[in-house]
Amino acid sequence: MLSFIKSLFTEKCPTCHKQLITSKTNFLSNIVIKTCPENHFKKEFHPALETYIESKRIS
Ligand SMILES: [Zn+2]
Repeated sequence: MLSFIKSLFTEKCPTCHKQLITSKTNFLSNIVIKTCPENHFKKEFHPALETYIESKRIS
């Protein structure tokens, strides 16, 4: 449970542990996208849904 919460709020790539880069690409929906500089990992935060969407190995 604690590790789940920790991973939910992590600002670092789980693969290389580099700090994620924040880029707000959709101003209309206020979606915040954080990506690993090495493209291992991507995290999207949707404030309207209060949901994170995480994906690994974006290409
Ligand atoms: Zn990485």
